[in-house]
Amino acid sequence: MLTIDGSQGEGGGQILRTSLALAALTGTPVRIERIRARRPKPGLQRQHLVAVQAAARVCNGRLEGAALHSGAIEFWPQAPCAGTYAFDIGSAGSTTLVLQTVLPILLDADGPATVEIRGGTHNSMAPPVEFLQQSFLPVLHRVGVSASLALERHGFQPAGGGCIRAAIQPGQAQIPLALHERGKAIARHAEVLLANLPAHVASREALALKHALHWSHQEVDEREVDADGPGNAVIASLRHSEVTAVFTAFGELRKAAEAVAQDCARQVARHCASQAPVCEHLADQLLLPLALGAGGSFRCTALSEHARTNAAVIAAFLGEVVAFAEQDGACLVTVRGRQTG
Ligand code: ATP
Repeated sequence: MLTIDGSQGEGGGQILRTSLALAALTGTPVRIERIRARRPKPGLQRQHLVAVQAAARVCNGRLEGAALHSGAIEFWPQAPCAGTYAFDIGSAGSTTLVLQTVLPILLDADGPATVEIRGGTHNSMAPPVEFLQQSFLPVLHRVGVSASLALERHGFQPAGGGCIRAAIQPGQAQIPLALHERGKAIARHAEVLLANLPAHVASREALALKHALHWSHQEVDEREVDADGPGNAVIASLRHSEVTAVFTAFGELRKAAEAVAQDCARQVARHCASQAPVCEHLADQLLLPLALGAGGSFRCTALSEHARTNAAVIAAFLGEVVAFAEQDGACLVTVRGRQTG
């Protein structure tokens, strides 16, 4: 049994998710200990617990220690199975992070799978649904992965109540990724999402965003959505021929609408100041699918602690397959894929 230290490097839930997926895909029993040990609320929170249970469900695996707040789990995986799955986080915990746990596993299943997950769909510190739809999944499609994602209902913190549904065809990435340039600029667009909050919040954010980025009226939309509780996010997308980058800022209690818009605008401006196609979030999320597939390389704007830690966890299962190198003020990431040997 392989032992993974859940507090290494960045020390967050990603160590757990990556370890679960790799355990299932390599058929390696794993013990993950010191889970999120240095976080203010250590151990398995609801989102992490559901990710653990979901990983076990989709491969008929056996679990020990899978309980709320647990600091260690043991997981004995079996072969991934096609099917129709539904998971309910029971809080506003991130549905997209649970999906990112089971998606790579189900690519090795014996047929197609659908996965419905209830909880938060727009959480700070997690990819919002639009990020997966516009940025992450299109890169996976490019390397031969077939998966789609639908947003059924929005869920914000703290009420949750959102729902996403993914359809996954079996088959890991077969085509090596080469993503070194953004390509031609095609469109830029932002959406201000608002649920159960006064309309002026969205209009102030839209105005501040247009002002900060010099974007036109047509490039920024306000959208009122149904949700169980209050929620607000500003999501900006930069579509290029090779890749779409998505940046999000979340409304918070006592944070001025203008400050939320400026937070999003700063992320967009920082990205525009660089030439690299892949943002730092997409970078850490691409490592696992590339390592499980045909590998490849990409340039990213910045290298996060998440990416370094994810590479270290991948190395524990697959060896040193990820390499980082500085290149013209950006970072070149090279991944040796499992499918290429
Ligand atoms: P913890 O609470 O222990 O920090 P967690 O399970 O909530 O853990 P992390 O381990 O921090 O999550 O991983 C968060 C993931 O969400 C990373 O892959 C990160 O790139 C991604 N992420 C965070 N914010 C965004 C964002 N705004 N857009 C896209 N992806 C994001």
